[in-house]
Amino acid sequence: MPLTTYHDTRALDPTPRTFTDVVIKGIAEGGGLYVPEWLPELELATILGLAALPYHARAFEVFRRLGIDVPEARQAELLAEAYGANFDNPAVAPVVAGGDAAPGMHVLELWHGPTSAFKDMALQCMPLFFSEAVAMRRAAGADVPDFLVLVATSGDTGKAALEGFADRENTRIAVLYPAGGVSEIQRRQMVTQHGANVAVFGVEGNFDDCQNAVKAAFADPDFNALLRRDHHTELSSANSINWGRLLPQIVYYVSAYADVVASGALEPGAPLDVCVPTGNFGNILAALYAKRMGVPLGRLLCASNENDVLADFIATGTYDIRERPFVTTPSPSMDILISSNLERALFELCGDPERIRGWMTELTLNKSFTVDPDTRAAIQDLFLGDSVDNDESLAVIRRVLADTGRLLDPHTAVAWAVAERHKGVAPVLVVSTAHWAKFAADVYKALRAVPYGAPLPPDAAGLTEFQLLEEVLRMAPDETIPAGLAELVDAPVRFNTVIARGREAVEGAVLEWLTEG
Ligand SMILES: *Cc1c(COP(=O)(O)O)cnc(C)c1O
Repeated sequence: MPLTTYHDTRALDPTPRTFTDVVIKGIAEGGGLYVPEWLPELELATILGLAALPYHARAFEVFRRLGIDVPEARQAELLAEAYGANFDNPAVAPVVAGGDAAPGMHVLELWHGPTSAFKDMALQCMPLFFSEAVAMRRAAGADVPDFLVLVATSGDTGKAALEGFADRENTRIAVLYPAGGVSEIQRRQMVTQHGANVAVFGVEGNFDDCQNAVKAAFADPDFNALLRRDHHTELSSANSINWGRLLPQIVYYVSAYADVVASGALEPGAPLDVCVPTGNFGNILAALYAKRMGVPLGRLLCASNENDVLADFIATGTYDIRERPFVTTPSPSMDILISSNLERALFELCGDPERIRGWMTELTLNKSFTVDPDTRAAIQDLFLGDSVDNDESLAVIRRVLADTGRLLDPHTAVAWAVAERHKGVAPVLVVSTAHWAKFAADVYKALRAVPYGAPLPPDAAGLTEFQLLEEVLRMAPDETIPAGLAELVDAPVRFNTVIARGREAVEGAVLEWLTEG
């Protein structure tokens, strides 16, 4: 395959980059995001043929066609490692039909990986290619340092990144989480993490404190010089704007289309709508790329929770966070104000780096921007946005369990509600992004019909999150708990350091860890 080159959405990096370049670099100098120069066209027969292959071979077909600069035999090996026994379902990303109670609905389950959330689809794969990219450069004689992936997390991402980078060559990972700001299950997932190259620190503060400290560490020239000199190490963020995380997400839309046709529920070539619970716009953007590569996807339904800036943007063409409060919801991984991958979608629709630079500058300076009428029309042609409030999302969990026997997590519930409201003639693929057990306390509230803002009923008030999980199982006896969550109860804690907020404390903790470890 000819190699695909990448350029950035703001046209500030003049050098054409390869796939492994952009995996290592992450973001372009000047703040733009890397996008491919061209996309391959997948023929319908190729797409449908994937249904006969195991998931890793489906992924290989998509990777191969995208012309990436890793030898094809090696790509196949890495993908077999990424999507193997680390997933608890042999299909990796199975599609399950809604059945008689939900005709025309198909659920794409993206939570069969080791951390039970959809971030695994990207983070079980991308670190392998990252590590390979470093190894390739060293084999070619370049003096490439090791990389320290530094991540601030409000929950899901930290664990998925830890699991993805654990024991990967040429990399280390350190995760910072707000000490009082993650659920008990999320905290235990992180502090029990295995791997010789991982560290986890609680921070006295909230998620913003963690995020700000990480940003300050990235921007601190002395710290970066010290890392290079004493540890031959460079910082990397591996966050969701990295193209290396986006590409693996395109695969499951190609795969799901093939599966729905193979199930007999869709004529080959007929449109399949998709409905995605959206935060940073990565997941739904992958659907846009799949559609552009020839997968017959119909409307892309963008489902938001009460943080509904994207729904408003799609409806109006104005992205406005001037007066917008940040709301707490039962679907925390969708709680965003600035949706970072939206920039890529805007670039793909208008193709004009100058306009992108203008809008992004306005967003930084004025907290608002408005796209031109043509771009707005292009957005509305592809996407439909809608939002679901906190109480409705919990009510949906209860109703869908009663009607269909399926227990949704609060993120998937948002997508389910939007899919129901807007279902047209075409069947709709509801993208399910987490296993409910990760959010057991809110799922418990949902099943007991307790409003989101109300306390737990008296008989449940003193229960731990693990006990609430057991209570949910009593109410939904057909459900099971993924092994990775079940074993948390008595997994040994490896990391109990809590540090002060601020750059100095974070840098100190990281240097101490590197020096001792
Ligand atoms: C990250 C995440 C989302 C949002 O995905 P984006 O790609 O950021 O839009 C939705 N649900 C869950 C469970 C997540 O972890």
